[in-house]
Parts: sequence; C-alpha cells; structure tokens
Amino acid sequence: MHVNGVRVDFAAVMAHVHSAMATIAPVDSVEATEESGARVVIGRARFLGPRQAEIDGRPIGFRQAIIATGSAPTLPSTPGMDAIAVLTSDTVWDLTTQPDRLVVIGGGAIGCELGQAFARLGSHVVLVQRGPRLLPKEDESAARIVTAALEDDGVDVRLSTEVARVEVNENGESGILHLDDGTSVPFDRLLAALGRSPRTEGLGLDAAQVRTTERGHAIVDAALRTSNTRILAAGDVSGLPQFTHTAGVNGSIAATNAALGLRRAVSDIVPRVTFTHPEVAAVGLQPSEAAQHGCSVQTVEHTHVDRAIADDRTTGFTSLVIDGKGRLRGALIVGPRAGESLGEASLAVSAALKTSSIASATHAYPTYSDAFWNAAVADVRARLTSGGLGVAVRLLARVRSWRGR
Ligand SMILES: Cc1cc2nc3c(=O)[nH]c(=O)nc-3n(C[C@H](O)[C@H](O)[C@H](O)COP(=O)(O)OP(=O)(O)OC[C@H]3O[C@@H](n4cnc5c(N)ncnc54)[C@H](O)[C@@H]3O)c2cc1C
Repeated sequence: MHVNGVRVDFAAVMAHVHSAMATIAPVDSVEATEESGARVVIGRARFLGPRQAEIDGRPIGFRQAIIATGSAPTLPSTPGMDAIAVLTSDTVWDLTTQPDRLVVIGGGAIGCELGQAFARLGSHVVLVQRGPRLLPKEDESAARIVTAALEDDGVDVRLSTEVARVEVNENGESGILHLDDGTSVPFDRLLAALGRSPRTEGLGLDAAQVRTTERGHAIVDAALRTSNTRILAAGDVSGLPQFTHTAGVNGSIAATNAALGLRRAVSDIVPRVTFTHPEVAAVGLQPSEAAQHGCSVQTVEHTHVDRAIADDRTTGFTSLVIDGKGRLRGALIVGPRAGESLGEASLAVSAALKTSSIASATHAYPTYSDAFWNAAVADVRARLTSGGLGVAVRLLARVRSWRGR
C-alpha cells in the first residue's frame, strides 16, 4: 500500500502527549499522596547528618528516611557541546516545532524509541551509537530486528561511531556534528540519549554517611538499606534497574521496611519493555544466558503465529528460557504489543510455573499469546518424547495399541 501527501500536525501530536501526561499526573499528585496519609512538604531536601536533614533550609529530624531523588539525563562532554541547547529525554517534550533534521546520540532504549518516533513523524533522523549494536542491554536477536525496523522507518543508524566535535550555529540549536569516522552530519536539533545519572549531587550523602558508587548511586542491600541503616533508597537513585514499575514497587518495599522494621527483599525478576515498533519485552533469564544457567530455549517465530500473519506483522519471535525441571526462568518477546504478553511471562517466571502448567491453560485464538503458549507446548512435547519420560510414554502407547488389538 502507498500513501502519499500525509502531513503531520506536530502541534497536535505534542498536544496529545501533554494531554496524556496531564491525565496520568494526578496519580502521583500531592493530593493523592496526602490522601493516602502522608504529609507532603514541597522543597529541596538535603541531609545535614546521619539523623538530620533540611528542606529549603528548614531543619527536619527523622527516625528513618528514604532517598528517592531519581536520575537526570547524562549530558555529552564532547567539545563544543556546552554551547548548544541539547535536547534530552526531559526537555524533548517542550519542542514546539518538529526538527527537520534530528541527530540522536545514543542507541539504548530511549534513543531508539525517540529516534524511531521522530522518523515516523517525518524528521530525517541520524542515530549515532558508540557500540557495535543498538539496545546493548537486550539480546542481539532482538536488537537486530529493532535496527532493521528503525532503518525501514528511515533512521540512518551509525554503529561503532563516536562524536568527535560539534559546530554550533548562531541560533544555539542547529549545527554540524563531526563523527570519528570522518563524516559530518548537519542537524537542526540534537538529542542526547546517553543514559541517566543519579540525582545525588548536593544531597549531603557524605554527611548522612550514605555510601555511593563511583557513578553516584546510593549503595543498597537487598532490603534497600544504605550504609546508614536508618536511610533507605529506592528508584533510579539506587542503581537498580531504572523503570517506573521498579521505582514504585521498591519504593513501597522501602517504605514498609522503614515503617515496620521489616527486611523485605526486592525481587530480581524485573520485566522491561522497549517501546519501539516492534516492541521488545523481556523478563528473567534471556536466551543468550540460557546455556550458562543449564537452561534450554524454546522459540516460536511469529511467521508461525496466525494473529501475526493476519495482521501482516510477522517480524518477531517469542522465546522461553526453561530450566531442567521445566520451569520458566525467562522470556524474550519481540513483536507488536509484546509488552502486553509480558505480564503472563512475568507471572510465570515469578511463580516458577512449569511449561506443563502454561500448556494446560487454554489461550484464546488468534492472539500473539499463542506464541507463548505454543512455545510451552513445544517444550512439554519435547520432554514427553525424550529421556526416561519419553521411554515410559512410548511404552505406554505400545501397550495401549497391543491391548487394543
Ligand atoms: C524518556 C524516558 C522514557 C522512559 N520510559 C519508561 C518506560 O516506558 N517504562 C518504565 O518503566 N520506565 C521508563 N522510564 C524510566 C522511569 O521514568 C524512571 O525509572 C522512574 O521515573 C524513576 O522513578 P524515581 O521515583 O526513582 O525518580 P523520578 O521519577 O525522577 O522522581 C524523583 C523526584 O525527586 C525529586 N527530587 C530530586 N532531588 C530532590 C531533592 N534534593 N529534594 C527534593 N526532591 C528532589 C525530583 O524533582 C523528582 O520529582 C523512562 C525514562 C525516560 C527519561
């Protein structure tokens, strides 16, 4: 199908983004927090000592404290960069005009998501990634599909490439990026997606006797206690996986541990989704890690999934990582709305469900979850036909056919 003459109304796109943010925001509002029983004080907090802090200069004592100051975008240190209004994942939402030529530095989840989104809106996007592939935290099989999808959408992906220097125009926004392979990329706006650094500067963590990593994250134990056991940390500042759901769940664990003196430990089973098209959804052990943990992998390519065929969206796969006892230890799903299928996988991994349990739960047809189900069925079938169990099943079948004569 070819569609010509499409014009994107960038103002309407951004208006929708802001409206969605405004609709979601009240969930975390001052009112909602106070309704749940907390007193909210707005201001800048910092520690003065192991049991003393201040908010905008007003002293406040505490028996227990939780640090949840989050993270801020890491900015590039390339020569010339400080003279330019670099867009970040915090400021890109304030754009009022769509950049015709956008350079994205960084090929992690945020760089890929935003780079693809702008390319789909019609911007000419060049994505510069220092490493040899995109999405370095995901399995290579997933990254390969996402790279091809971005390129299909017109993103000019430059791998194993570093930024050498930047020339800035008078407007302080556009310029020319010089890369270490000798090429130059003119741009209207430049977006840095280099990861996020913990917001611990000026927080008085030394005075509070809270130890940090070299990158500034508060070091926590499994129960989220810092080196000062009266102070806990949760969310991006703790150095644990940087996701909204992790911040929420761990914040709640930290709060109950602090208030009730418990030692509830955080889970290391953390689901995550990269919202590119197609999506990449992962939880637990990944296929590339299976062998070192004595696990096997069952994969269903979405070319064999009827829903994917009907939607003409067959690029993708569902892989299950399964241990020797048939328990699901991890999953990797690449495809449309893969994140929606991840809930079931997360539950199965958390509950150490066996593939036989998954296989025995009928899944609706035609859905993308069919792939998850069929991968579990394939594992059960493989177990029924191999080893001692396989011998027993074949023997039983032979006896049945002999008795039926
Ligand atoms: C572009 C982008 C896309 C993302 N997409 C996803 C996604 O799809 N799914 C997902 O799960 N995660 C996503 N994340 C990650 C997610 O947003 C973070 O992991 C999450 O917000 C971390 O929550 P937090 O509470 O630790 O920190 P934050 O949400 O950053 O909150 C910290 C708060 O502390 C305040 N603060 C800081 N210092 C002080 C101080 N000294 N005194 C008082 N207050 C202070 C800050 O103002 C802020 O309000 C995304 C992040 C970005 C940037």
